[in-house]
Formats: sequence, structure tokens, C-alpha cells
Amino acid sequence: MDLKIALVRFAMPTLVCVPLMVSDIDLAIADAARAKVAGADVVEFRVDPLAHQLAPTAEEFAALVGRLVEGSMLPAIVTCRIEGEGGQYGGDDATRAGWLRELMRFAGMSGHANAAPMYIDLEGARLAASVDLTAFAASLGGSETRIVLSSHDFSGRPSDLTRRLLGLQDPRGSIAKIVYRARSLRDSLEILDIPNQMDRPTIALGMGEFGLMTRILAPKFGGLLTFASLGEGQSTAPGQPTIDELMNLYRFRSIGRDTKVYGVIGWPVSHSKSPATHNAWFEAAEHDGVYLPLPVAASEDADTTYASFKATLLELIDHPHLNFAGASVTIPFKEHLARLAEEQGWTITKPVSITKAANTLVVSGGGVSVMNTDWEGVLKPLHAEVGRLAGRRVLVLGAGGAARAAAAAMAFDGAHVIVSNRSPHRAEKLVAELTPREAVAGFGSLGVVAWSARGDTDAEVVVNATPMGMATGDAPNESPMTEAMLAVKRPVVFDTVYVPRETPLLKLAKGAGCRVIEGTAMFAAQASAQFEAWVGRPPPRV
Ligand code: NAP
Repeated sequence: MDLKIALVRFAMPTLVCVPLMVSDIDLAIADAARAKVAGADVVEFRVDPLAHQLAPTAEEFAALVGRLVEGSMLPAIVTCRIEGEGGQYGGDDATRAGWLRELMRFAGMSGHANAAPMYIDLEGARLAASVDLTAFAASLGGSETRIVLSSHDFSGRPSDLTRRLLGLQDPRGSIAKIVYRARSLRDSLEILDIPNQMDRPTIALGMGEFGLMTRILAPKFGGLLTFASLGEGQSTAPGQPTIDELMNLYRFRSIGRDTKVYGVIGWPVSHSKSPATHNAWFEAAEHDGVYLPLPVAASEDADTTYASFKATLLELIDHPHLNFAGASVTIPFKEHLARLAEEQGWTITKPVSITKAANTLVVSGGGVSVMNTDWEGVLKPLHAEVGRLAGRRVLVLGAGGAARAAAAAMAFDGAHVIVSNRSPHRAEKLVAELTPREAVAGFGSLGVVAWSARGDTDAEVVVNATPMGMATGDAPNESPMTEAMLAVKRPVVFDTVYVPRETPLLKLAKGAGCRVIEGTAMFAAQASAQFEAWVGRPPPRV
């Protein structure tokens, strides 16, 4: 690799570019000013919508785009993207080359020196095929304006990726840009490695939700630039974060080559609250880490889902430059993580060996361990509200993953736990699997009660571990207990559902005079235990 390029690549921080679809010049100039205030370094003026609407002459195009670039408060990339690569320009290359030549002539006229864009983006495949674009590129000669040679595939990883990358190293371009839809996190890891294989500064990004990590981690891998939209609904490619998310949620400017990478692995994960929580804690603790959504697709077929989870996780752990340091693992992979840990001989904690489910991965000093912090998530808020559970009578509603963690944690803390579930066989299975075969000191007991009799127990504590009342679930307005069921014994009511904070169950419980524990307390306690496992100290107050 050319030493000068290597130095430039690693000495320069990755640029943040806001792409703007231009159909109104004044609006685009105002948006460029907003992009600067939001922290962008560059704007990309996508002028193909303008060209599509106006079908201008070369002179009209040059005057409009020249005024746009002159009025921009940020250096500009000018792009007239063709239809075949996600744009709106349907004309021929001779016309496009004529427009761009005229733009450069306009910028050469006295009083218009600021009309020259920093970069002009041309598709590598079209430059290779067009004498007009080739002549235009050659005409730039000694000017400051440089060519970005680009390649886009909205459908997936191009089958001719290597040939495309070679094409983008054409001497007529100064910068290479390759963007395609990532079909998995493994595609994204391949994309992140591209800038290091190129002979020039390179933009390599993945589209779609699997590609988000390439957009955020570009600075770790020497990517020249990342794109971020000015706001919701203003992105030019699927999966682009907003500039607010990039700067404030993911703290893009603090990401460097040594930054440790964490994330939440699940399906789906796009609405997870964990990135906001952990990134805010990392910032307050001055920990050099970034926390991302890490989606792994799950299918109906359990073997395929496990294979895909395993391959992805091992690739994340083994990547030589990612500094992957840990993950929260959520639905539907908690049992997969426990299985993989056993298969790989990783260290597991007691809650994992009891529940056969894990929600936390820690990669540190060449070793890997897995934990189940849902256990602490249940016990910590309960201890704070009612003290130790030994001898207490507890009713758990549900028999899924959350119920499993709650029932086991409380029974091993000494509580007498009764499980009630809509499908009784799942409650019976849970109790049979979690009850120790031999006597265990401090263990309370586990039993089952019919769903129809859940209101008739004398429980002192009720834990809801069904999704009833969850805003994004199937039964957002339902409660698993009626007010009448709660009014007699007035148990402490703990709802694990945390969106909304005050669920229908908690509202009824308060009406019945019960003390309540919100699901956010469980979320905070399990997240806090994860932070401590990764960083070595409790999270700071934020
Ligand atoms: P899961 O494995 O899908 O289990 C859901 C359980 O709820 C099943 O036993 C199911 O019964 C029961 N259920 C579902 N809909 C029901 C309905 N309409 N009426 C009666 N029972 C119903 O889910 P999970 O992973 O255990 O999660 C359950 C809830 O826990 C989630 O909604 C989440 O909000 C909460 N959670 C909170 C935290 C936190 O940090 N606060 C962490 C984890 C989970 P069947 O067996 O009959 O289908």
C-alpha cells in the first residue's frame, strides 16, 4: 500500500456526511446549514431529483448546482445518481458529463470559485463504459475537485464484489465508495474490512438493519466517511442512522481503533432500550466502548436459527480488529447462548446452569463467560422492596424465559414459588426442570396452580412474566390479574413488562392498595449487572 495513503487514512478522522435529496435549492442550502450545526463535516447534494424534475439545459444545471454549492456552509459532494444504482437520473452519460463540465466551467468563472464541489460522485461501472464521463474526469486535471468512484447494490452482496472493488481503484478516481445491502452481521464484518484492502481512501458501508454496524464502526476500520440523515424520513439509503443518533446515541466522535464493541443480540432488536442505557453509562464512566443493536435473523427452523446464531457469535468473537467485548443476548437466543457456552466449554454461572438460559456474554483476556443477569434483575428490586425471600409465598404468572429466570431466582433465594400459566403443561415442565434432584441448602419450593385459580392463592408477592399489558405486544390493554384478585391479600405486585412503565396490572394493583415494582427496575438491575461484568465496576449515575 502507498505509504502516503496509509498515513492519510489513519491520521484522518472518519468524516460524517449528511446526504440531501435536492428538489429546492434554498431548502437544501438551509438543510446544509442545519447539518453543520448538527456536527456534519460534509454534505452530499443528491441533484438527481432536481435533474429529474427540471430536465435542465447544461447552463441551467450549472447555475442551479453552482448556487447550491456556493451557498453551502459545508464542503459538498455532488451526485447525480443513475436509476440503476438507487437514483432518479434516467438520462444518458453524455448529457450528465455535459452538465458536470458546465458546472466546472461555471466554477472557473470569476466570482464563482466556491461553486466547485469538493467531490463529484460517479458510478465506477458507468465511468468505465463512457467516453464522455472519462473525458470529463480527465478535464478535472489540476482542479481541487476529486472523483468518488462508487458502486451500489440495494439487493445484497454483489456476486462480483472483488471485480467491483478492483474497478473502483481506477486511476481516474481518488476515492472509492462501495455500498450494498448487508444480509447479516457477517456481511457487515466483511464490509468493515474493505477499506484496509484498498489502495486509496474508501467508503465501505452496509445497507439495511444488518449494515448499521458498518456505519457506526467506520472509524475503527479506517473508513473515510459515513452517512447520517438529517432527521427521520430523510435517509437516502435503508439503515442510515440520523445524525442525532450517530453523534449522541452512539457517540461517533469517540470511536477509535481501540474502542471495545458491545451490543444486544436478538431478533428483532431495533426497538431495544439497551443501546441508550449502555452507551450513556459508557460515556459517564469514560469507558472506551460502544454498544450497538446486533440483529441475528431467526427462522421457524430451530436448527437453522442455532447455526446462524453460533456462526455469527463466533465470528464476532474471533474477528482480529473488532475488539468485541460482550453482548446482551435476548429473545429468542437466551437458550442458544447457554447451549453454545456448554458446547464451547466457556465459563458459565450458577443461574445459567440452573435455568439453561443466558442473557450476557463477556469476552475478556482471551476467555469467554456467560451469565444470566435476569436473575439479579428479579432479585434486586424484590430485596429492596420486601427484603429476603426465604419462606415467602410467591405467584409467578407465565412460563416463558422471564418466568423461568424469576421462578428459579426466587426459589433458590428460599421462596415458595407457585407458577401459573395459560398452557398448564409449560408450567409443569418449568417446575419439573428447575426443581433440584437433590436437596439444595436454602432452596424454597416450586409448584403449579391452574390459570383459572391464580386469584385464589395466598401469595405475598405476584410477579407477572407474561407480555400482557406490553404496549408493543398482542394484549396491550389486558392485565393478568383483576383488581378483585388482588384486593383481599394485597400482595406486592411486580410487573416485568416495562413498556409502558405503568401497565394495566400496576394500575389495578395500585387501585387495590398493593405496593408495586415496575419492570424498569428489573431492566435497570439486569443491565447494571451486565455493565459491571464488562467494565469491572457498577455503572455511574446518569
Ligand atoms: P415468552 O417466552 O414468549 O413467554 C410468554 C409467556 O406468557 C408464556 O408463558 C405465555 O403463555 C404467556 N402469555 C403470553 N400471552 C398471554 C396472554 N395473552 N394471556 C396469558 N398468558 C400469556 O416471553 P418471555 O421472554 O418470558 O417475556 C415475557 C415478558 O417479560 C415480556 O413481555 C417482557 O416484557 C418481560 N421481560 C422483562 C424484562 C425486564 O428486564 N424488565 C426482561 C425479560 C422479559 P403460553 O405458554 O400459554 O403461550
